[in-house]
This record gives sequence, structure tokens and C-alpha cells, in this order.
Amino acid sequence: MLLGQMMHQPLSVGSLIDHAARYHGDTEIVSALTEGGFERTTWAEVAVNAHRIGSALRARGLQPGDRVGTLAWNNRRHLELYFGVPGMGMVCHTLNPRLAPEQLVYIVNHAADRILFIERTFVPLIASVRDQLPTLTGIVLLGGRDEELAAQLPGLLFHDELLVEGDPAAPFAEVDETSPSSLCYTSGTTGDPKGVLYSHRSTLLHALCVNNRDGLGIGATDSVMPVVPMFHVNAWGIPYASAAVGARLVMPGPRLDGDSLARLIIDESVTLAAGVPTIWLGLLIALDGMDEKPTTFKRTVVGGSALPPSMRAAFRDRYGVELIHAWGMTETSPLGTLNAPLAKHLSLPFEEQDRIGNGQGRPPYGAELRIVDAEGRVLPNDGTTEGELQIRGHWVLDSYFGHEKSALTWDGWFGTGDVSTIDPNGYMVIRDRSKDIIKSGGEWISTVDLENIAVGHPEIANAAAIAARHPKWDERPVICAIRRSQSALSEEELLSWYDGKVPRWQRPDRVIFVETLPLGATGKIVKATLRETYGDVLWEDAMKELEAERAAQG
Ligand code: AMP
Repeated sequence: MLLGQMMHQPLSVGSLIDHAARYHGDTEIVSALTEGGFERTTWAEVAVNAHRIGSALRARGLQPGDRVGTLAWNNRRHLELYFGVPGMGMVCHTLNPRLAPEQLVYIVNHAADRILFIERTFVPLIASVRDQLPTLTGIVLLGGRDEELAAQLPGLLFHDELLVEGDPAAPFAEVDETSPSSLCYTSGTTGDPKGVLYSHRSTLLHALCVNNRDGLGIGATDSVMPVVPMFHVNAWGIPYASAAVGARLVMPGPRLDGDSLARLIIDESVTLAAGVPTIWLGLLIALDGMDEKPTTFKRTVVGGSALPPSMRAAFRDRYGVELIHAWGMTETSPLGTLNAPLAKHLSLPFEEQDRIGNGQGRPPYGAELRIVDAEGRVLPNDGTTEGELQIRGHWVLDSYFGHEKSALTWDGWFGTGDVSTIDPNGYMVIRDRSKDIIKSGGEWISTVDLENIAVGHPEIANAAAIAARHPKWDERPVICAIRRSQSALSEEELLSWYDGKVPRWQRPDRVIFVETLPLGATGKIVKATLRETYGDVLWEDAMKELEAERAAQG
């Protein structure tokens, strides 16, 4: 006997943009053009174009499940693909333009992309590897017809012409909510990149569950600037969450330097932004050098690597901007934790509230965390025990694209490769990547702690801590640091900055001042490269010392 039931509507990406068009149609989307300048459009126009582009691709023979690649910045046309491609049942595969050409070729072939949409800047790159991309049946320029570019890449199609071909009234496909909607490869520093295939369901649940008042907190009155690229875990789901609530979007395009972002924040009255710490370091330096100050900018979500507490304090104290620390991975859609206080925290002394706020925060509904030891035994959530962080939830990967085997533990958790603590209230603190942590004489030293202290020095622009080989202690910390311009800070001065801030044995052995730090494709410092270059700086001196010590002992 049927007791009665509720309507079933599949959770679909297309439904988000249809909603945005229906109820927030005149809300503006500001978008930086790749060739310079800006354009203004609306959710209604983006929605019409999403239907057009999706239907044009179907008319050209693409089938549900087919992968459509994008090599693109954060802008309006990319947004149309974000909704139009999955809307019509295909998979939007975002590619990271900062990857080496061989890696891009590998990824396009591994994903078997059928069509590739590219910015004008990447025409020469794609032309040079076109013959290595056999699965592609078409390449589309994100723009209008351009004969000069067409001559460089025979058969080049044009986004704006596909829009004209498409049918604005074509309804989105009826999708099974567990079918795939988008694909993103991990930046993985070792081995081949691996693809994470998000479903309509995981994408919707992520967008809805992480956008509550204790989460991203995006609302219809916000002007949101996703600085995190759309090729990095779906810009942390911000385009989807923004469509669900009808927020205004300010898309920064390719220019992500501090000055450009500061201008955009002020000129476009941005209220909320999101990005990795290196981007906000650039913004802080730019804001410090400007007379004009942002007045609307109130909150920004920071994740991807650890947020230095000194940066959080600087934004709060100098500009009244709250930096909200979040943690996640490509495999977790990405948000696994976000930092928002509990009621009982509000009566704590400021220093204690600040300490909690500096951590990576707690999971929203839909995600669950635990830490385990090397044998997989679950460790206590006591705020001090460190272990490998594992996660499970509605938007966490089960198996990688094209891999039959599940990536999970026997009891259904995903191992993150991060080392962390979790306190009794569920607040998680990342201590390190398990492969980056410094193992000195059997004890662990967190590179995150050492970096936070270095970046907290007023004359340091950025810093990375690495493990250098050591004959006695196995590994010892070395700091690679960039001084702010005009600073003449010495190695000894920076080393003494650590006194009283860490136990004596954790004080770094050396500081190496560098002009730049190697950044990976998603803007994170590539420690493996630094270890290759500087991993042996202590070895010879330490050997000599050790020999002298041994000689002295007879
Ligand atoms: P990706 O898949 O490229 O986004 O990288 C995910 C990894 O970035 C995580 O496993 C962490 O090691 C690191 N990560 C992300 N967010 C944070 C954070 N807030 N603090 C420290 N590390 C982070």
C-alpha cells in the first residue's frame, strides 16, 4: 500500500541556472575579458546562452556523458559552459592552463575529450599539440570569429557562432542525478594526474550544504568574486552556490595580481571573495600601498593551503575583512571544513577565539572526519593527537575517473594524505602534508607552523619550510623566504624571530633568501622542487660538525 509520497525531482546542475534566470534574472554578472576590459551581463542572459551552447553541442552530435574540455579563465563564457554542458547531459571537464603541455595532452586524452573550448591566449599552445589530441572532434575559441586565429588552428570554431546555432528554448536534458556533471584532474605532484568525476547530485548537495550561514554564507545581496580558478575544483562550487541564491558575480578573468584584484574589489563593490593564501598575500601588499580602501569587502574564504594567522590578523585589523579558513581537496568537491564559531566560543577570551579561528574549522552537514594512525586505527579527537586525516560524505570521491578500483579504505573512508588534529568539537587543524612534514630525530615538525611564523615577520613577503637532509637528525627545517622589497633582513634576524615562538629544537637551521618560490598549477608552493634544490644544504656542514664531534669524543 502506498502511504503517499513526495515529488521526485533529480538534483541537476541545469536546475540551478534555470532558477537563477527565473528569480534573479536581472542580477549582474561582471566579467573581465581575456583581451582586456570588462563586460556586463545577467543571470538571465547567461542562462539563455547556457541553453544555446548546450543544444548546439548536442546538435553537433555530442551525447550524454561525453566530455567537453575547457581551457579558460573565470569569465562569462566559461560560466555558460559550466551550466550548459552538464545541463544537456555532457561533462564539463575543466583543464588547468598552467600545466605543462605534456600534462595537458595526457589529461585530454585520458578523459577522451570530444570538444575543447579555449581562450585566445592558448591558440598557439593547442595548435602545437593538435596532432597529439586524436579524441577531439572540434576546438572552439571562447569569443567571436577571428580570422587570424582561425589561420593558426585550421577548423577552429567560435563560441559566439555556436550560441547563434543553439536553441535558447531547448529544455535541459532529463538527467539521472547520479550521472556525471563535471570532471577535474588533481594537481598531484607525483604520478600521473587523476580525474575526479563529480555527479549532478554531489555538485548540488555540495553547493547547498556548504552555503549556509556557518559556511560560505553567500546570499542574494552579495557581490561575489571567485578568484579561485574555475579549473580548480569548480571554483570551490561558488558559481553553483551563487546561482542557487542569485548572488551577483564578479569574474576576475586572467589578471589575478594584487593591484588588479584590489581595483576590482573597490570598483565593483565586492562583498565576498575566495582564493588561495598566495593570492591574498598579493592583495594585502597592494592594499597596503593604496590610498583608497575597500568599504564593501567584508569576508573572504581562504583555503587550498594553510592561511597564515598573521595574514588573517592583518586583513581584520587594517581593513575590517574577515578571512574564513577552509580546507578541502579536488577529491572532496572541495569543501571538507570551514571555520565558524560555536555559541560557546563567543564567551572565550579573544586570544582563544582567535586560536580556534586560525584552524581549518569543522565539517558542514554532509561531511565527516576522522584521524587514524599508520595501522589505520582511529585516534582520539582530543585536539593534540596527530594522525592521517580521512573523510567521507555526500561529495567525496569513491573512485578516480577510469579506475575500476575504489580509492577508499575497507570501511569506506577516503585517506587525504594530510596530517591533522581534531578537537572534541570537530575543529580540525592541518599540521602538514604527510610527505612534507619534517621528521627531526624521530619527532615531527610542522612546516605550516614554521611558515606561518616567517610570513608573520613584517619584512617577509612569502616563505616555505622544507625538510633538508641531516646526518644526525635525519631531517632539519630550512626556510626559503622572499623578503619584501627594500628589506635587508638578515638570516640571523629571521632565525631569531623564531625564539620564543617554537621550542628551541624546532627553530630552523638555515634561511635561504630567494627571489621567487616555485608555484604549482593551482598557486601552491611546490615543496618537492624546493627540496630538490635545497634539500642538501645542511648535509656537508653537518657532516663536518658530526665528524668534529666524534673526533672530540675520541
Ligand atoms: P587540491 O586537490 O589541489 O585542492 O589539494 C588538496 C590539498 O591542499 C589538501 O590535501 C591539503 O594538503 C591542502 N590544503 C587545502 N586546504 C588547506 C588548508 N586550509 N590548510 C592547509 N592545507 C590545505
